[in-house]
Amino acid sequence: MTAVTPHPPATDEEAMILSVVRELVADKVAPRAAQIDEEGEFPHDIKQLFAENDLLGIPFPAEYGGLGGSFVTYVKVVEEIARACASSSLIVAVQELGALPILIGGNHDQKQRYIPRLASGEWIAAYALTEAGSGSDAAGSMRTRAEKRGDKYILNGTKIFITNGNVADLISVFAVTDPSKGADGISAFIVEKDFPGFKVGKREKKMGIRGSPTVELVFENCEVPAANLVGPEGQGFRIAMKVLDKSRPGIAAQALGIAQGALDYATAYAKERIAFGKPIGQQQGVGFMLADMKTEVEAARLLLYEAARRCDENAADVTTWAAMCKLKCGDVAMSVTTDAVQVLGGYGYSTEYPVERMMRDAKITQIYEGTQQIQRLVVSRALVGKWRPPAP
Ligand SMILES: Cc1cc2nc3c(=O)[nH]c(=O)nc-3n(C[C@H](O)[C@H](O)[C@H](O)COP(=O)(O)OP(=O)(O)OC[C@H]3O[C@@H](n4cnc5c(N)ncnc54)[C@H](O)[C@@H]3O)c2cc1C
Repeated sequence: MTAVTPHPPATDEEAMILSVVRELVADKVAPRAAQIDEEGEFPHDIKQLFAENDLLGIPFPAEYGGLGGSFVTYVKVVEEIARACASSSLIVAVQELGALPILIGGNHDQKQRYIPRLASGEWIAAYALTEAGSGSDAAGSMRTRAEKRGDKYILNGTKIFITNGNVADLISVFAVTDPSKGADGISAFIVEKDFPGFKVGKREKKMGIRGSPTVELVFENCEVPAANLVGPEGQGFRIAMKVLDKSRPGIAAQALGIAQGALDYATAYAKERIAFGKPIGQQQGVGFMLADMKTEVEAARLLLYEAARRCDENAADVTTWAAMCKLKCGDVAMSVTTDAVQVLGGYGYSTEYPVERMMRDAKITQIYEGTQQIQRLVVSRALVGKWRPPAP
């Protein structure tokens, strides 16, 4: 029924991982996708399935319990899962997002203590940067404070929109240690869910990715051991931005998978649905729509795989490529899923068919981990530089 897009795996190991993932997705994830959306609960069974099959630490180094796989393999895995269920794909992507501050800025002890538990799926990770007054302008308006007292930091403040915050065992949290220094006064911390003064607040009701919980996290005199400061004080914002270079391609992969899933479904439907005596795919208006969808999906895929390849190489321009692939894949996900609903006509609008869910799920990929406007800002700054007014 589905139109499979062939892309040769880079290595035998990647081929093996992808074949396992395709089987799991077909047997276990796809049949649960509509239910996960309807129930609106974190799918612990799917997380367990991914953990048992070593999918939660694909790009983590083998010395810390990960698979030591390439970044290219990781994005392909997220894509395959998102083809069937965007919420489930986020389990893999956010495990990476939450672990990255430790992998990028953490010391050997921190990596040894935490990464194996995340790689195995024993623990779930989250990443807490956003606040009510600080989303796109993450550094400029951050209010959560961390003050050093003896061998502890005391955190006070509230983070919002934190994916998996209510199911996470470990949260990478960003807080201001020196308000006089702007972005250079932000530090990163590892917070365990049992640390005194940490609690989960309100949960968002959302348009899409409903099986992925999004919550408020409250820090009230939360006690964090000084040993859980990640990197030196004041390096937090730099770490947060380096994380996005590696996590944005994961969101791009989620977006691409959603788009591919919608294209697969719409194509199969267009071959079977008869109008005016022939399949609607044979009506030029519909056939051309499918042709444009396919072209956009393949263009987005090439951009994503190239960005992921550059992540593997630690290329100097990885920030720009991460932004470009998230921008392109997010926009393609939105346009392709919208067109897929159109191809199905009235049935596309019904929850009996998966494309309306895919359209709702696609929207978030244009918003989180930096909105599309912020991706454009990143790319344009790489081209023309950041404007600084001339000195008076
Ligand atoms: C479901 C969900 C899950 C999320 N998960 C997480 C998570 O796990 N961890 C986390 O830390 N955060 C998370 N977020 C937060 C998300 O990253 C932010 O919502 C996002 O970065 C946008 O910030 P904002 O909502 O404050 O919008 P704002 O920054 O207020 O932006 C509002 C609008 O203004 C535009 N805009 C702002 N500045 C500019 C500019 N300079 N130029 C042009 N346009 C601009 C934006 O593009 C947007 O359209 C999540 C959000 C959602 C909805």
